[in-house]
Amino acid sequence: MNIKSAEFITSCPDYESVPDSDIPEFAFIGRSNVGKSSLINMLTNQKDLAIVSSKPGRTQMINLFLINDSWTLVDLPGYGFAKISKSKQEEFHEFVSEYLTSREQLRCVFVLIDSKIPPQKLDLEFCQWLMECSIPFVLVFTKTDRAKKGGVEKNIAAFTEAMSEWCDGLPRIYQASAKTASGRGPLLHFIDQAARA
Ligand code: GDP
Repeated sequence: MNIKSAEFITSCPDYESVPDSDIPEFAFIGRSNVGKSSLINMLTNQKDLAIVSSKPGRTQMINLFLINDSWTLVDLPGYGFAKISKSKQEEFHEFVSEYLTSREQLRCVFVLIDSKIPPQKLDLEFCQWLMECSIPFVLVFTKTDRAKKGGVEKNIAAFTEAMSEWCDGLPRIYQASAKTASGRGPLLHFIDQAARA
């Protein structure tokens, strides 16, 4: 898919503010600093569509962008714990879970995982929650340019092994680097196919 246009639509502080629409949506989520803004900018070929911030937790709203006048990219706030774990180190916004569980045109959630680090409980818990809610998702392992040789594969294997304890079929897995733009083609191809389905 060629990206011909990418426009900011709106930022929503709650689910009620998310505008009605019948075009397919693809949401991006991950722990703060996972490289979400960088990935969104890389995919859409924009310098600062999503503000790249090195400060964790800066994006606290649901941000919508219209791509090619045909699908909506939804930038969700970094997830935390409340709904999915007892720990409250980060707040998992009620409205994010409301969006994820209610939005009919949501085709797929891209769960971003930092490829440099071993499986994190929070990421696994979030994936488990998505699965329990039957929300379609794929995994995107980010910052692959920064991992040591073989490190990405090792962390992916460890992550999927941990997942296999509670899930039958594993989700699709992508690797991406915002720095080198590797992984851009396969991710856009997947969106293109899923948007038409
Ligand atoms: P967000 O908080 O998830 O939106 O993360 P950002 O996109 O702001 O990225 C967090 C930090 O990781 C920034 O310093 C980025 O420059 C860096 N970063 C993000 N993606 C990549 C990547 O693919 N490769 C490298 N080397 N650094 C990255």
